[in-house]
Amino acid sequence: MSTLILRSRLVIPISRPPIDNGVVVIEGSRITAVGSSVALPPGDGATVRDLGESILLPGLINCHCHFDYTDMAGLLPSQKPFTDWIRAMIALKANWNESQFASSWARGARMLEGSGTTSVVNIESLPQLLPDAWKATPLRLWSCLELINIHSTLPPEKVISTAISQLPDDHQDPTKRWGLSPHAPYSTTEALRQLTLQRAEKGQHLITTHVAESDEEFDLYENASGALFDWLHPHSRPACCGTHSPVGMLDETGYLTSRLLVAHCNRLATGDEDRLSRAGCSVVHCPRSHAYFDHHPFPWQRLDKAGVNLTLGTDSLASTSPEGNRPPRLDLFAEMAQLAGQKNAPEPKEILRWATLNGAKAIHQTGRLGELREGALADLIAVPYSGPATQADDYLVHFQDTVTFSMINGKTLTPPRSRAASLAPSQNLESNGEEPSSQDRVISQETRVRREGPA
Ligand SMILES: [Zn+2]
Repeated sequence: MSTLILRSRLVIPISRPPIDNGVVVIEGSRITAVGSSVALPPGDGATVRDLGESILLPGLINCHCHFDYTDMAGLLPSQKPFTDWIRAMIALKANWNESQFASSWARGARMLEGSGTTSVVNIESLPQLLPDAWKATPLRLWSCLELINIHSTLPPEKVISTAISQLPDDHQDPTKRWGLSPHAPYSTTEALRQLTLQRAEKGQHLITTHVAESDEEFDLYENASGALFDWLHPHSRPACCGTHSPVGMLDETGYLTSRLLVAHCNRLATGDEDRLSRAGCSVVHCPRSHAYFDHHPFPWQRLDKAGVNLTLGTDSLASTSPEGNRPPRLDLFAEMAQLAGQKNAPEPKEILRWATLNGAKAIHQTGRLGELREGALADLIAVPYSGPATQADDYLVHFQDTVTFSMINGKTLTPPRSRAASLAPSQNLESNGEEPSSQDRVISQETRVRREGPA
């Protein structure tokens, strides 16, 4: 098996201190060593790739995304109540055809590839797109099939089996997995959620659900009032309205488990953070979508203090505001910058952990993803940097430039997708044969070296 040695002026493994003049040794799809270039000299026949004045770090993990809504950027104004936005979204979706969703999915994937994400939990509202979509992206994917049955006459077993039946047959790609995503408590029945849980436990699949995202959802469960309560037909309203918070209701019904990745959690009743912590749930926060909806401040300190694993996601571009006069992009660095810019924000070091190590824990990949260590999967990225190690975390959470190196499962994305390229029309981006930028050429000079023997 060939050996690749990546050298960088700074290596940030996340789970251990930064390494000046560091190297990461890769064999096949795995990292076999991480250390300083002095302690780990190159070996016989190894290929050395010197990334120069860069930070080399684990690829980012986006724990909540909707690729199929990427081309809805700018089409839906932020509006309150939240139910008005949902209505507008339902109307917009009804006017789209399958090929629009397919090109939107592909464009979203390219945006993440070009901006440092290597793993993504994507909510799939059209699972029939996946046989082709999976083949077209190198991203490490957890495709979670969206389930909604509040108005369905189908038995819950059928809702789940219909979604699963559209997955690619006999796929062998180790970077593609699937899970289940009962959309939200108010759009799914108790029976569907319980069957999902059983199915997920049996197959060790990830489950993810939007929970306590809006004031309207909180009011529905906690107070049996509000716009969502009024919007739902009396026959569709949950029987437990007015008795629990959304998190409390899910806890009472046994839905909270370590298999569940909870999206949002913007409104918590007293003790909800302990319920989530006891169950071992992870929570994913989407800072720019949160700002778009102008939700209550995300109660991250309460969740963090209770020991809940906190992660980051992009949500969809249907609920992301433009960047000045530029259209928004799916970009986890932009999410980190949004979070870092808020009052009472977590420290940059913590924000980086949310986007890497904590994300790996949320998808049950601790030790395999989200950190650079021996035995981990070779998912890495690099960004240009010539400053001191002490300022690197702050630099990274505000980074808005081009990711200059990206590797998934030991395979280099050649050349790395640039952010500009990800915004170009989709028909020009189907191959990896784009000309590298001059910057890419400078940093990607590879040299064959002979092993001099261990130091
Ligand atoms: Zn979402």
